[in-house]
Amino acid sequence: MKGTLFSQSSEQNTQAIAQQLIAAMQGQQGSWFAQLRDQTRLEDKLLNWTLNNPGLRVQLFRLIDVLPTLSTKAEIARHLQEYLTLPGVELPSALKQLLNFAAPDSLPGQMAATTFSTAVSALAHRYIAGENITQVQKTIEKLHRNSMAFTVDILGEAVITEQEAAAYLQKYLDLMAQLAQGSSTTEANLSKGQVSVKLTAFYSQIDPLDAQGSQAQASDRIRTLLRHAQKLGIAVHFDMEQYVYKTLTLETLKGLLMEPEFRDRNDIGLTLQAYLRDSYSDLQSLIEWAKLRGTPVTVRLVKGAYWDQEMIQSAQRGWQQPVYSAKADTDANFERMTQLLLENHSILHAAIGSHNVRSQAKAIAVANELQIPPQRFESQVLYGMADKLAQALSTEGHRVRVYCPYGELIPGMSYLIRRLLENTANSSF
Ligand SMILES: Cc1cc2nc3c(=O)[nH]c(=O)nc-3n(C[C@H](O)[C@H](O)[C@H](O)COP(=O)(O)OP(=O)(O)OC[C@H]3O[C@@H](n4cnc5c(N)ncnc54)[C@H](O)[C@@H]3O)c2cc1C
Repeated sequence: MKGTLFSQSSEQNTQAIAQQLIAAMQGQQGSWFAQLRDQTRLEDKLLNWTLNNPGLRVQLFRLIDVLPTLSTKAEIARHLQEYLTLPGVELPSALKQLLNFAAPDSLPGQMAATTFSTAVSALAHRYIAGENITQVQKTIEKLHRNSMAFTVDILGEAVITEQEAAAYLQKYLDLMAQLAQGSSTTEANLSKGQVSVKLTAFYSQIDPLDAQGSQAQASDRIRTLLRHAQKLGIAVHFDMEQYVYKTLTLETLKGLLMEPEFRDRNDIGLTLQAYLRDSYSDLQSLIEWAKLRGTPVTVRLVKGAYWDQEMIQSAQRGWQQPVYSAKADTDANFERMTQLLLENHSILHAAIGSHNVRSQAKAIAVANELQIPPQRFESQVLYGMADKLAQALSTEGHRVRVYCPYGELIPGMSYLIRRLLENTANSSF
């Protein structure tokens, strides 16, 4: 009975906080401009069309995916016509007009190619915090002015050679040095500057079937990263990737963070994905491990970015699906994990990564009920995905960190496609 009362009031608190956040989002200045812009810019129109037209959505995203590999306007124009005139694609009249050219290398063809690539580039810049470190630093300054912290991620494709793995590490060492130089007292007040990294990029031959070998090789480079990060005063967070790498990632990090050299570090974090059926039990094991370790680590709780890929791959290979198949199950698991994570705030600090008002409101409600000290709980969003929510959270006095991916468009394409898929999914809040 006590439990029921607790959860009823928790639900009421969650809804009240969500209403408050929504009101703060609606009250933000500039929203009229965003609305006006949404109706006029081609990139916004592209997004709006995909919401109601699944056939167009698939072909448009295939086209965006292939775009960086096309080197001439004629090639782009040819692909535009080829992809967008396939059966099952319903074209809005503005797109029909754009495709109304006889030959890809004609003037109208070239104009169509330019219009389309400009729109995609504008779209990419909305989700990518800069193409180089100088641009990212400007983004960071803007975040600071709005009392938000950051984590920087270098965009990249899968690492397939050892030279690429070494280059990945070096890029992060350089990035951290530059971040440390540019770090202002504001960041010190908010929290440490932070980078986000992917374990698979530290070793090109990473293979869950050779867990020991992969762990040893990746760990070697991660040690270098962590040592530099400590000297520079930069925190390090590990993203979570596809399910096939999950156990290897958790085991590698748990092993490293138990080593005497790193055991006292409280500025390192890892990520759990609530769409995984075994994520709740992973969190339970992590709690036991953290108790043993004695120094807190941060857990970024997210729902998971590879849902379509996990579903398709497990079906193709006849494996059990590692992810929930209903969005509501992921959402419910996210809330259960939020509760468990926050209940263990003395050994696991919580970073709630979501653009869903309800998910963030739930975490705040639980944090309030448990009277969690502010430094043990923060909200996180991806750059460009939930600006209004981030601003509302920050205005309401919550700690907010924005995940800032940066880099060139080509390596960033798969990141862009994941964000577009999410932003145009009918299941989103
Ligand atoms: C700061 C930050 C860092 C992130 N880091 C990572 C990371 O390291 N690794 C990673 O994988 N993701 C990461 N993400 C992305 C995250 O996993 C989500 O993809 C994204 O935040 C969308 O979830 P939401 O709660 O914002 O939105 P919502 O719209 O509430 O949820 C969308 C999510 O629900 C899930 N979903 C959708 N349809 C279904 C379905 N039919 N059945 C079951 N589940 C479904 C998917 O996970 C989908 O992404 C990060 C997100 C943020 C904000």
